[in-house]
Amino acid sequence: MSKFNTQVGIIGGGPAGLMLSHLLHQHGINSVILEARSRQYCEERIRAGVLEQGAVDMLRQSGVGARLDREGLRHEGIEIGLNERRYRIPLTELTNGKAVTVYGQHEVVKDLIAQRLKDGGDVRFECSDVSVHAIEGPKPAINFTQNGEEHTLACDYIAGCDGFHGICRPSIPPGILTGYDRTYPFGWLGILAEAPPSLDELVYMHHDRGFALYSMRSPTVTRLYLQCKPDEDVNLWSDDRIWSELFTRLRCKDGWCPTEGKILQKSVTGMRSYVTEPMQFGKLFLAGDAAHIVPPTGAKGMNLAMADVYVLAESLRAFYRDNSNAKLQSYSRVCLRRVWKAQRFSWWMTSLLHRFDDHSPFDNRRQLAELDYVTSSRAAAASLAENYVGLPMELE
Ligand SMILES: Cc1cc2nc3c(=O)[nH]c(=O)nc-3n(C[C@H](O)[C@H](O)[C@H](O)COP(=O)(O)OP(=O)(O)OC[C@H]3O[C@@H](n4cnc5c(N)ncnc54)[C@H](O)[C@@H]3O)c2cc1C
Repeated sequence: MSKFNTQVGIIGGGPAGLMLSHLLHQHGINSVILEARSRQYCEERIRAGVLEQGAVDMLRQSGVGARLDREGLRHEGIEIGLNERRYRIPLTELTNGKAVTVYGQHEVVKDLIAQRLKDGGDVRFECSDVSVHAIEGPKPAINFTQNGEEHTLACDYIAGCDGFHGICRPSIPPGILTGYDRTYPFGWLGILAEAPPSLDELVYMHHDRGFALYSMRSPTVTRLYLQCKPDEDVNLWSDDRIWSELFTRLRCKDGWCPTEGKILQKSVTGMRSYVTEPMQFGKLFLAGDAAHIVPPTGAKGMNLAMADVYVLAESLRAFYRDNSNAKLQSYSRVCLRRVWKAQRFSWWMTSLLHRFDDHSPFDNRRQLAELDYVTSSRAAAASLAENYVGLPMELE
């Protein structure tokens, strides 16, 4: 077994782990990333695609925003659809100039991997049997296997950035963490289609048959979603059936509907809200999906991951620079304030837009009144816009 050292051992090479390693490098702190999958798999994994203003600023200011600036699609509004009509929420006008940018998560991952390797970073793919040890002591360690060889990585701190199904959160002894959980009675059937966007902004459509979302990834690729059963069998959905349902739910009185094209990928994702508290135990810090997941309606998952690691990188910087762990001790509290506000917003957007089979006629009328309020009141739209473009990054 070979042994080596670093300051921060990072488990997981998704947006959280890669961004953390990149920010630490800029603060003069060494790290090693251990990722279970291959580089190609990470770079091709299609997931989120909406970046908040704060995440865009972070990528730009840390020097990895060049391709994002060239290829990202800045959106200054979104549209809420109801009864075959679309109502625009002017995000930029309502938030003093902020916007969101559509840029695929896998593109962010590609840019961060390239930058880490360019900067001489240690990013190890295809690591297996990853386990954490002595997280309560002064010198924690990570054991892992790569290319059939076993290694021990001794570190000062471990960052658990290994997603919802990773090993870090379950490595914390029982009785320390409290999980807050909500599972929704539906999922999203998502497709990626080779079809140019027929509208420049996202459309969040409420429909009697269920929610539908029109979005895009590039000038030639659209990303569309349909509310479905949480355990929907994707094989029951032929391409024709998907397009027919998308047209039924999205078509508007003004004649707008998405452009049809070749379906490149289809998948079903369940919808869940989950938060673990605290987000730290001993020398192990959880960040991103390892600590919390949100239903995708608010487009917050990747953005929360970026916000967590911004706080963690600043806390580690304060530790190494000032020899003070005060910021590390407040990491969990600071992150959870933002996490819960993003959870509230994601839950609210989900409740506003989806069809709930157990809704009473009263619930249905209340939901329609709320949609009417959001699409007709500047104050209500401003609240949606403030949350959608992202609340300010806070370190206290
Ligand atoms: C299937 C899916 C679809 C999604 N779609 C959307 C969407 O459409 N819109 C939206 O806004 N959000 C979406 N999200 C949410 C968003 O993509 C996540 O919030 C985001 O990926 C969080 O980043 P992360 O780095 O914390 O975790 P992840 O991106 O999950 O990264 C974790 C990394 O850790 C690695 N890993 C796991 N276990 C180990 C281990 N034992 N050892 C080493 N490495 C390990 C994984 O391979 C992965 O690379 C989706 C999430 C999922 C899971």
